[in-house]
Amino acid sequence: MSDPTGFLDNVNRSFDRAAAFTGFPQGLLDEIKAGNSLYRFEFPLRHDDGSITVVQAWRAEHSHHKLPVKGGIRYSADVNEDEVMALASLMTWKCAIVDVPFGGAKGAVQVDPRKLTLDQLERVTRRYTHELIKKNFIGPGVDVPAPDYGTGEREMAWIVDTYQAMTPDGLDALACVTGKPVSQGGIRGRREATGRGLFFALREVCARGDDMRTLGLTTGLAGKRVVVQGLGNVGYHVAKFCQEGGAILVGLAEYEGAIANPDGLDLEAVVAHRRDTKSILHFPGAANITPSADVLELACDVLIPAALETQIRADNAPRIKARIVLEGANGPTTPEAEDILNAKGVMVVPDIYANAGGVTVSYFEWLKNLSHVRFGRMENRYREASQLRMFAAIEQATGKTFTEADRSAVVKGADELTLVNSGLEETMTAAYRDIRGIREQHPSIPDLRTAAFLVAIEKVGRSYLELGIFP
Ligand code: NAD
Repeated sequence: MSDPTGFLDNVNRSFDRAAAFTGFPQGLLDEIKAGNSLYRFEFPLRHDDGSITVVQAWRAEHSHHKLPVKGGIRYSADVNEDEVMALASLMTWKCAIVDVPFGGAKGAVQVDPRKLTLDQLERVTRRYTHELIKKNFIGPGVDVPAPDYGTGEREMAWIVDTYQAMTPDGLDALACVTGKPVSQGGIRGRREATGRGLFFALREVCARGDDMRTLGLTTGLAGKRVVVQGLGNVGYHVAKFCQEGGAILVGLAEYEGAIANPDGLDLEAVVAHRRDTKSILHFPGAANITPSADVLELACDVLIPAALETQIRADNAPRIKARIVLEGANGPTTPEAEDILNAKGVMVVPDIYANAGGVTVSYFEWLKNLSHVRFGRMENRYREASQLRMFAAIEQATGKTFTEADRSAVVKGADELTLVNSGLEETMTAAYRDIRGIREQHPSIPDLRTAAFLVAIEKVGRSYLELGIFP
C-alpha cells in the first residue's frame, strides 16, 4: 500500500501551507517539493537455520540543490518507501533552516534490528553500503548518511569501514558518513547532539515571556513538567538535558509501556531499572500506563514525542493536555492533529527546527573529516598564551595581582566538545530567531511549522533561482 500512514502526504501538505506565503511561481514550488532520486533495492539475508529472506532497502535523495545530500539511515520492520521519501524531504527543509549546506536524503532497511544477530546486522549494513557505493548513492561529496531510528555509531563504523575498503585512494573517505564513533573519525558531542539541540530549542521557546504568558506558563524551563515518548538516542538525551535544566520528568514511555509520577522520575534510575528488568514498567513509586501511547495524554507543560511519526493524530489530539509539543521525532504530529492543537492554543515546535541539532553537529563532523584536523588543535595553546600575556599586561598597568582562580577561570583554550556545543547553541538560537521573525512579519501564518517551512522554502527557492538549474 502506498503511503500507509499518510506521512509523505502530511509533509507535502505542510509544504503547501507555507508555499502559499511565498511569491515563487508554482512550477518552481512543484520542483522543489518533488524528490530528485530514489534507489530501491533488495538483497538476500541468510539466517542461522540456513534459510534466506529478501530484505527491502531504499535511499531517497530529495533535493540536489546543494551537494552532498544528507540524512540518516533507519532500520525498522515497518518502514516503507513513502516514509523514506517523507523523511528525505524533511531533511531538505531542516538543513535549510539551520544553514548547513546540504540537500536532504534518507535511507532505510526493512529489518527489525532487535530480531537480528550482531553478525547479521553487520552483514546487512555492509551489503547496504556496497549497494549504495555501486550506484553512487554514498560519498563525501555526493550523499552522506548518519544514524536514525534503529541505527547508531556501530552501524556508522561498519559503513565507513566498507566505504574505505572499496575506495582505497579516497583521501576524504572518512567524510562519507557521520555519527561515527570518535575513534573512527566521529566528533565529540554528536551522540547527544539531537537531544541537546532540542533542549536549546525549548530553552529559546520558554525564554519568550510574551509567548509563555499566552500559553499560561511561566518564563524559563525550571519547574516545567515534561513527558518524553521514546528513550532512544533522541529521547534519552533530551530528557537528560531537560532534567539537568530544572524541568521535572513526569512521564516516560517506551514501546512496552509507560510510567508516570507527578513528583518527578529520576531518568538514570529509570534507565537502570529498564536495563535490569527489561521493562520500563513497575518502576518504584511510579504508576504504570498501558498502552504506552496513553502517556501522550498526561497532564504536563511540555510533551516531547521522540520515538516515531504519526503519534499525535486527530483521534488523540483533543485529549492532549500539554501546552507545548516539542517534536523530537520526525513527523510525530499529523496536520489534522496540529489544527486541533492550534485551536486549543498549544504551541507545536516543529521537527524541522527542533530536532535539527543532529544534522548540525553532523555538519561539524563532516568539516572535521574533510579538514583532517580536530577542532581547536591549531589555536588552543596560542589562545591560552595570548590570554596569559593580557593578564600580565593588566597586572603591570594596574599594579594589581590576579589570583590563580581568576586566571584559570579565564585562561583556557576551547576543546572540541566545547566548540561543538557552542556552534550548536548558536545555530539553534539563530534559527529560532529567524522562525519567530518571519512569523512576526506574516501575522496570518497560523503556526511555527508553517513559519519554519517558509524560512526553508525561501532559502531553497532562492538557491534554485540563483543557480538557474532549469534546462
Ligand atoms: P532510537 O532507535 O535510538 O530510539 C527510538 C526509541 O523509541 C527506542 O528506544 C524504541 O524502543 C522507542 N520506541 C519505539 N516505539 C515506541 C513507542 N510506540 N512508544 C515509545 N517508545 C517507542 O532512534 P532515535 O535516533 O532516537 O530516533 C527517534 C526519532 O528521532 C525518529 O523519528 C528519528 O527519525 C528522529 N531523529 C533522530 C535523529 C538522530 O540524530 N538520531 C535526528 C533527528 C531526528
